[in-house]
Amino acid sequence: MNGHGPLGPRIVAALLQRCSRCYRGPAYEGFITMHEHCPACGWRYEREPGYFVGAMYASYTLGFAIVMPIWFILMASGASFGTIMAVVLGTLAVTSPIMFRYSRVLWMHFDAYFNGTSEDAETAG
Ligand SMILES: [Zn+2]
Repeated sequence: MNGHGPLGPRIVAALLQRCSRCYRGPAYEGFITMHEHCPACGWRYEREPGYFVGAMYASYTLGFAIVMPIWFILMASGASFGTIMAVVLGTLAVTSPIMFRYSRVLWMHFDAYFNGTSEDAETAG
C-alpha cells in the first residue's frame, strides 16, 4: 500500500495533527512533544534520525505564507517599514509554536503521500 490515497482525508488528518498512516492517532502527546509511535497504529513518526530536519522547510513555507499577505496589506495601507517589521516579527513570534507543530505534521504527511507508509518501503531500498 502506498500513500496515494484521496487527498481530502489526508488534509483533514494533517489539520487535526493526526497520524500520517491511519489518520486516527494524534501526532503530539504534549505541546511540542511528539509521540514516538502512533498510539492507534504503531507507525513510527520519526522515520530515521534527523527525519524532522526537513520539517524546517515546511516551517519556512508556512511562515512565508502567513507573513506575506500581512506584509502586502500593511504596505498597501501605507504603514512604515518599522511598523511592518514589528507586526511581522510579532506575528511570527506568536505563531511559531503553532508552526512548529504543523511543520512536523505537514512534513510527515508530505513524506507519507509521496513515499508511502508501508513497512516494506523502508527495507526495499
Ligand atoms: Zn497511526
